Amino acid sequence: MTELAHCTECGKLFVQTTYDLCPSCRQELEKKYETVFDYIHQKESQDLTVSDIHRATGVEENLLNKWQEEGKLEK
Ligand SMILES: [Zn+2]
Repeated sequence: MTELAHCTECGKLFVQTTYDLCPSCRQELEKKYETVFDYIHQKESQDLTVSDIHRATGVEENLLNKWQEEGKLEK
């Protein structure tokens, strides 16, 4: 059965998957994550804070905090 959901990011209606974001917002989010991930790995020897990463990559701090809580920012 097909369920429709509103994207939590842009509010667009889309066919719900295991995510609560529409495909285009998900792609956008993945791009941001890749940027952050690359940056963290470039700076491997340094201790980075969320605001360091935010300044360097331009990714929103609330998103970075969320990833940090989820353990996604670990090296
Ligand atoms: Zn969206």
